[in-house]
Amino acid sequence: MGGPPITGFSIRITTGEPQAGDAPTLTATGQAVAINVPAGGLHWSGWALTASAPIPSADGVTVVLAGELYHRDALRVAIGPSADGVNDDAELLLACWLRYGAPGLRLLDGRFAAVVTEGDTVVAATDHAGTVPLYVRHGQDGLAIATEAKALRHGGPSEPLPGTESVPGNTGVRRVRAGTAVAVVPSSGKASAIRTWLPPEHRIVLPEEEAVRRVYTVLDEAVRSRLDGGPVTVVLSGGIDSSSVAALTRQSGVETISLGTDAGDEFEAARTVADHIGTRHSEFRVGSEDLVRQLPWAVAAAEIIDADVLEYLLPLVVMYRLLPGAGRRILTGYGADIPLGGMHRATRRLDSLDTVISDDMNTFDGLNEMSPVLGCLAGHWTTHPYWDRSVLDVLTALEPGLKRRHGRDKWVLREAMRDLLPEATVSRPKLGIHEGSGTTSVWTSMLLDAGVAAADVPRAKRAMAIAIHDRVVGQAEPPADVSFDDVLRDVIASPSLAVVK
Ligand code: ATP
Ligand code: MG
Repeated sequence: MGGPPITGFSIRITTGEPQAGDAPTLTATGQAVAINVPAGGLHWSGWALTASAPIPSADGVTVVLAGELYHRDALRVAIGPSADGVNDDAELLLACWLRYGAPGLRLLDGRFAAVVTEGDTVVAATDHAGTVPLYVRHGQDGLAIATEAKALRHGGPSEPLPGTESVPGNTGVRRVRAGTAVAVVPSSGKASAIRTWLPPEHRIVLPEEEAVRRVYTVLDEAVRSRLDGGPVTVVLSGGIDSSSVAALTRQSGVETISLGTDAGDEFEAARTVADHIGTRHSEFRVGSEDLVRQLPWAVAAAEIIDADVLEYLLPLVVMYRLLPGAGRRILTGYGADIPLGGMHRATRRLDSLDTVISDDMNTFDGLNEMSPVLGCLAGHWTTHPYWDRSVLDVLTALEPGLKRRHGRDKWVLREAMRDLLPEATVSRPKLGIHEGSGTTSVWTSMLLDAGVAAADVPRAKRAMAIAIHDRVVGQAEPPADVSFDDVLRDVIASPSLAVVK
């Protein structure tokens, strides 16, 4: 598998000997291996999606880590001799914790969700941007922690915890915020939280050349840090974001993949890039309505009800499900637009551009756009170089005049990639994945054809997302058992939409 040793988990931590539980229902696929570990006065029991379940322990500290760390060499240097030769990321986290304690989580640049216990305290931690969603339920019977909300759906509402938020639906589960470590003492109920990252609000002023050099360097390092020496796949649209990632992989045998539908594709733009950089390239064309009908898979993976975000994620989920072979390591160009303001193509003034960038960087949490479950549902591991912590720090902090410049959006990124990509790619206007694949327009047409009034389309999409979420998250029904057409019929028949028929 091109992914990390553990891709997900569902664990209960109790003060007494726990009851054996059933294997959890998770949308991520993989072998669920039982965990049963006494750790000081606490007891861990549950499941990890893994081939080997490495749960390292030393000096009374026990660690589980779903996901992976990047920039490991720098981390090893900081930790010192105890990290020499340590390659396993959970072991690295353990060594980091033993040297720095909980604030050591602030050193990590990775894509992970982790649980650490020390003495009578449990810590549940997300990476800087919460790219691996992490859920908790805190009750009389201890603390349950999982990488998917649906795994924790039984057991009544969680007590509120600092550093967490409620999630959609009636599961009663809470989500650990991005860049946060929540500490709980199950025996006393005492709880606290620390932040491990915040999006920068200051802006750096730099000469053009220096800004371009910095963006190139930091993105190059983020891509390199995500290669593990094995084969990689880049999901390539031919837009500047994914083309840059594909170009920076610079290793032979890279595979690039493009998705199109009968409603639209970006095949020519992607092929131009693939030919230029010399990747093994494939195109997949699916029926646009068939694509939209896979909405339950996107809802089950992302565990959200935001229809706009689901429209971005759905084509990716469809593509991951189509890919031949299991266990790929997939790099995407997802997320560049958030710190660069790329979605705000019509925003001309720099003050409003910077305002939307600041707003977007402060409201991404909980959208789960980067969730690994989107790929893990088909057995693939995804990683997003633009949401590397160092890349986000630089891209967010650059002053907005470097992002919109000389009449171009994402100017600084385009300039940084000028030498590696064809001119047509560097100057290609942005096209969102939901637009290029026709996902948004086809879902809309399907609703209009079913009798929904144009003005009610957004409301109907949201109602469908909520209805599907109730089933695939609230009741953990397999997405294959949820029919898009049945949900659509029910939503139209529901009193709130019936009036518009
Ligand atoms: P741009 O923002 O300039 O259009 P982009 O297409 O790379 O660049 P998005 O449109 O934001 O970026 O899409 C997000 C990511 O989803 C892409 O970077 C790419 O990894 C993936 N993606 C988008 N469309 C496709 C597609 N048709 N086929 C394969 N992957 C795609
Ligand atoms: Mg695009």
